Amino acid sequence: MNYYLHNDPNLPVAWSPWFAHEYLAYFSVQAIDSMMFLPPVPVKPNPGYGDKLWPVGPKHIDVYKERYQECRQLDPLWSFDYKKRNGDFALEAPSEKTIEPWKVLVIYSTEPDLYLDHDLILQKNQKVTGGSHGWRHMQFKLFGTTYGIAPQSFRVHKDLAELAFENSDDYWGWRYLSRCGHYLSDLGHPFHVKAVPVSFLMKKIVSKHEIFKIVSAMHQSYEVYVERRFREAFEPFKQALLQGAREGRGAREDIQTRLTHYIKQAKKRHNPIFYYLFDTFGQELLSAFDQMDRNSQLDLSIQTNRCSADAARVIFKETNLSKLDFLDRITGEILFDVGRMLGMLFAGYSSKS
Ligand SMILES: [Zn+2]
Repeated sequence: MNYYLHNDPNLPVAWSPWFAHEYLAYFSVQAIDSMMFLPPVPVKPNPGYGDKLWPVGPKHIDVYKERYQECRQLDPLWSFDYKKRNGDFALEAPSEKTIEPWKVLVIYSTEPDLYLDHDLILQKNQKVTGGSHGWRHMQFKLFGTTYGIAPQSFRVHKDLAELAFENSDDYWGWRYLSRCGHYLSDLGHPFHVKAVPVSFLMKKIVSKHEIFKIVSAMHQSYEVYVERRFREAFEPFKQALLQGAREGRGAREDIQTRLTHYIKQAKKRHNPIFYYLFDTFGQELLSAFDQMDRNSQLDLSIQTNRCSADAARVIFKETNLSKLDFLDRITGEILFDVGRMLGMLFAGYSSKS
């Protein structure tokens, strides 16, 4: 396996640029031979299971990347909008198209960060997670209160995948499983399972607004850093995911049982990463997020995303490159764990179809 996703000749350039979740899914499936050799399945329209129980965001549209038209050539290092790809895609299920299951797992893994979970009213506390999107993608405790439902998002999509497979809709089985893998990856992400170090809250005598900005900035900066490493074909990250997934695919363990430990490990890594980013890049990095507006009605992730390019310019500035060792190491550990969980999840379905 010598590819990095962005140079895999089996994938059309129309699907590029690639984002972190797609790299996670890509290296994880590459570790599972039985998955890679599954025959293509016919593309079908969304069966709409659970539309009432688990509503999707009002702006969400299922695009079908199986039919594409190449339209532009984006610069992969400076692309931060999941919606913008080199190609445009069909808005209705193309009949007579088929696709390999592993590709479905890769190309639909960013869907939950599009409008799928945006602009919903789920819970009165959802402002703390920046809106309904964050609510479904995070779960953390703050002063004894739990915010967010990411473990439930994971379970619901696992159930939806199973329902689709039971009804012989393999295409949607894989597509729901791809979304399911997204939430599972999020649960291994320190900033999704913990908001802010308690010690930081105690020490800092700054406004609630300022805390919110710092937390969002550190979170987004870390995302920017990881994604950039993948796009630069950073070998240790690839190896960490492959090794994790290889271990996970053979693990005789229940994924639900393992989840608690997995989340705990991710939580432990939050403080070190938060403080490292804050202490190393501090004010310079924060100023990249100055254009954020607390009173905006826009989902928080959309706002922070607009600051990604400026954050990348700070983190990957020539004089800062030597400071990335610590992040490289701890992220390797995180990716091993994520790969292990994705390997377990995906391998469990590799006898389907
Ligand atoms: Zn997410």
